[in-house]
Amino acid sequence: MTQSGRAQRVAELIRQEIARLLSKGLKDPRIGFVSVMSVRMSRDLKYADVFVSLFGEEKERKSSLIALQRSAGWIRRELGKVLRMRYTPEVRFLEDQTLDRVYQLEEVFHEIHEERKRAPMIKLSLVEIVEEFRKGNSFLVTSHVNPDGDSVGSILALEQLLRAMNKEKITCAMADPVPSVYANLKGAKKIIDCTAERPDFDVLIILDVSSLDRIGCVAQWVDEKVRIIVIDHHLVDNPEGTVGFIDPSYAAVGEIVAELFEVAGVPLTREAAHCAYVAQITDTSAYRFSNTNSRSHHLAARLLDTGLDVSAISREVLDIISVSKVKLLRLVLDRMEFRAQGKLAASYITAEDIAAAGGSKDDITGLVNYAGNIDGVQVGLLFNAHEPGKTKVSLRSRPSFNSAEFLEEFGGGGHAAAAGATLDSPLEEVQPMLLDRLEHLLEEESA
Ligand code: 5GP
Ligand code: MN
Repeated sequence: MTQSGRAQRVAELIRQEIARLLSKGLKDPRIGFVSVMSVRMSRDLKYADVFVSLFGEEKERKSSLIALQRSAGWIRRELGKVLRMRYTPEVRFLEDQTLDRVYQLEEVFHEIHEERKRAPMIKLSLVEIVEEFRKGNSFLVTSHVNPDGDSVGSILALEQLLRAMNKEKITCAMADPVPSVYANLKGAKKIIDCTAERPDFDVLIILDVSSLDRIGCVAQWVDEKVRIIVIDHHLVDNPEGTVGFIDPSYAAVGEIVAELFEVAGVPLTREAAHCAYVAQITDTSAYRFSNTNSRSHHLAARLLDTGLDVSAISREVLDIISVSKVKLLRLVLDRMEFRAQGKLAASYITAEDIAAAGGSKDDITGLVNYAGNIDGVQVGLLFNAHEPGKTKVSLRSRPSFNSAEFLEEFGGGGHAAAAGATLDSPLEEVQPMLLDRLEHLLEEESA
């Protein structure tokens, strides 16, 4: 099949990059002598079939191929850094042979791929997670880009737990700066960014996120030797990591971390409770979102028992609003547009708006709720053209619409009621494309 010009260019880039990565040396000894012959892209550019020549006996060739396939996730992440595509293609390795053999091998790869998707990460209980902590020596604790109260609160509460478990080498790192509203949490000022030297760690704990793609530049410190523990509450298909605990019934990862204190037999201090409480009130909007459940309230009671000043924390984290944010809110409200008989509401902000308001990207937090909370609206959006050629979109939806599922196609995710994505296209393209798509979906539903 002939490939389009774009597919050919992408294929060639991938071929060169994989050849480079292989020559740089994958450490897996099973990967024998490999030469990348050609790359064929699927029509939608979501898969790259990489045809390789392998040397040696049939058995060795097969084990090389399987080892290559196992390293496909890492290779894909490396490709993501150079390709700058909205969706980095999945990489499948095939031996460059006659087509009948290719067909046969395709089946093997399909099986491996399916297997990886089915059980890519070993799911553990909280007791087993605590065991993992006990076994580890040195830890790096991190979370997603664009940190919020749950990511910062969870990192800092977990750091305190590990310290209470007599672990000494613990580093907390984040790709983006900690928003100032969380600066009062214990340890917030010690969170490092990627300008620091690579800390020494053998265990990486990623919180409130399940994919290395979403921890930003912190991923550069990860190599094959690192044991990755994922603790998350998002809807995820393919969590990355060695082991983990993922449960979307928790309103916040901070709740999971608070339970880990109990499982480990470590009393919750006021400082740790403060972190967990900030995580909870951020992700539930003070126990109001649909993720709030009775467990959240039982936990909140235990957190309050440590002596938290609820009114001061709520004001600091949720209520106080900067002058720059007021200016941006004015723009958001003024630009609100309605479609699909009022079931869709959307607004936008640009980097120029933020600069003119004298604000920062922290000011954007929560503005999407003004679209999502309008009476009759099922899907509310905020577009944020935060840097040239990129558009961040935030979605908030009623239970009739799953935001995370909708954004999956665009490389985003999150929860059913609140999700986000960053697209590598300018606002002028992203805004009409997504609004048309949503309008169509919402009108179809009522037809
Ligand atoms: P927000 O729209 O407030 O940035 O994010 C809403 C929810 O979606 C949060 O749980 C956040 O972690 C998640 N989210 C935001 N952007 C992305 C993204 O690009 N990818 C994924 N997987 N989740 C996102
Ligand atoms: Mn969260």
